[in-house]
Amino acid sequence: MRTSEEYRTSLRKMKKNVYIDGKLVERDDPILVPSTNVLAKTFDLVDDPEFKGLITARSHLTGIEINRFTHVNQNAEDLLKKQELIRRACHLTGGCIQRCMGCDAINALSLITYEVDKSYGTDYHKRFQKYLEYFQKEDLTAAMAQTDVKGDRSLRPHQQKDPDLYVRVVERRSDGIVVRGAKNHITMAPNADEIICVPTRAMTENDVDWAVAFALPADAEGIKLITHVANPRPRKYLKAPMSEFGVADSFVIFDDVFVPWDRVFLCGEWPFAGLLAHAAGGLYHRHSYCGCKPAVTDLVMGAMALTADYQGVENKPHIRSKLADLACVAELVYAAGIAAAVTGEKHPSGNFVPNLVYVNVGRRHAGVNIYHELETLTDVAGGLPATLPFEGDFSNPETGAYLEKYLKRREGVSTENIHRCFRMLSEMLCSALGGVWAVAGVHGGGSPIMEEILIHLSYDFNAKKKLVKHLAGIKD
Ligand SMILES: Cc1cc2nc3c(=O)[nH]c(=O)nc-3n(C[C@H](O)[C@H](O)[C@H](O)COP(=O)(O)OP(=O)(O)OC[C@H]3O[C@@H](n4cnc5c(N)ncnc54)[C@H](O)[C@@H]3O)c2cc1C
Repeated sequence: MRTSEEYRTSLRKMKKNVYIDGKLVERDDPILVPSTNVLAKTFDLVDDPEFKGLITARSHLTGIEINRFTHVNQNAEDLLKKQELIRRACHLTGGCIQRCMGCDAINALSLITYEVDKSYGTDYHKRFQKYLEYFQKEDLTAAMAQTDVKGDRSLRPHQQKDPDLYVRVVERRSDGIVVRGAKNHITMAPNADEIICVPTRAMTENDVDWAVAFALPADAEGIKLITHVANPRPRKYLKAPMSEFGVADSFVIFDDVFVPWDRVFLCGEWPFAGLLAHAAGGLYHRHSYCGCKPAVTDLVMGAMALTADYQGVENKPHIRSKLADLACVAELVYAAGIAAAVTGEKHPSGNFVPNLVYVNVGRRHAGVNIYHELETLTDVAGGLPATLPFEGDFSNPETGAYLEKYLKRREGVSTENIHRCFRMLSEMLCSALGGVWAVAGVHGGGSPIMEEILIHLSYDFNAKKKLVKHLAGIKD
């Protein structure tokens, strides 16, 4: 397995294709360091005794010990460990651990390439396993590029005026394919070794050219990353672990990019585009969400409990009720992930597949509650997160003494700790990074409507009707 330093070194060696605010930047540009720090954590945890047995797994292909973020889940225990790993790792980085994305993509490809081969007699699964062996041996990180830019949402890929609004194959050659189009919102693309591209939706027979999946180095010829960065506000004096971690999300442009056949995992088999989309986003990634979303709620709960404690109101009934409310959200989402793992099924490919209903109800519950959680925290925090004076005013001798005196809360808590607590609340509730996390809480891994679609696909509402008809004595 690589060390975080080896990972950072390999990023430094990559070709420049990351654009931020009008500039072409290196991958070790200071603006990208906070997001790279998140990924680096997944390498450092390998040496952390508290993560022993959690962050590593044994490859089912080679038997070697690998980072769990490169593992294809083989049984329920694997899914449970991945979920616990994500929750605990997210605690350390103050939110998303990001590396789950590539892990979910390889799990989906392992499952669906097997099925495509069964129907079409292709050899995608063998190809994919060879790629996976390399991915595991090199301990790679991958962004999952699934969300196409999509143009008019009511139209299918082939119906769009501009055919490039979904990533598509523009040329088939003897040595590979050429792809064009763009994916957007792609987390960690400039921090990743690889980009794994999978379809975003079901396709029809008219969408053959858009039914495509492949993996490429993130700096492959023709790929451009137009990147939005959300970093914590810089701290001048009051250093804190949370200020080390940020996120970078990109438009990933494929400007006629060549993909050799050994890295192509779907090409034209349109009935499987939807299944791959569901397996990547709707199944494995939503299971990962059942780990990361409870972690986010843990942080909201922790911030709320600490604020209430410092304010002297921790034991007031409305605070206790709000804390219990948040605990219900966190643990129900986590429980959905556990249920999905223990009621999951072994697939003939060897993959262990989480239960589709449980992962989707879990993810949906998290998505529809995120603003409720933030509203609850805002309520308890009062207005100070929005109006907290700048750090410099705490250190300025002319103003510092006033703030020391007037920021006081309950007896026994230092003003510095109150300041630290509210600076963190300000970051969570009022910063650019906080805003990105809130939107990600709704849409990352699929908007609530996407979970509802999969719940409808896999849930038997007619059976519920039958129950009621029986009890009501209705016979038809
Ligand atoms: C911070 C962040 C990080 C992300 N990271 C990744 C990532 O790493 N990889 C990745 O692939 N994706 C990523 N996503 C993308 C995420 O999965 C999408 O945002 C989500 O699927 C919604 O797609 P959209 O943003 O295009 O919104 P839209 O598709 O425009 O959806 C917005 C709303 O429009 C409505 N709508 C859209 N289409 C239809 C339709 N056909 N019929 C009816 N109603 C419709 C729905 O109400 C929907 O909720 C990320 C998103 C965020 C915010």
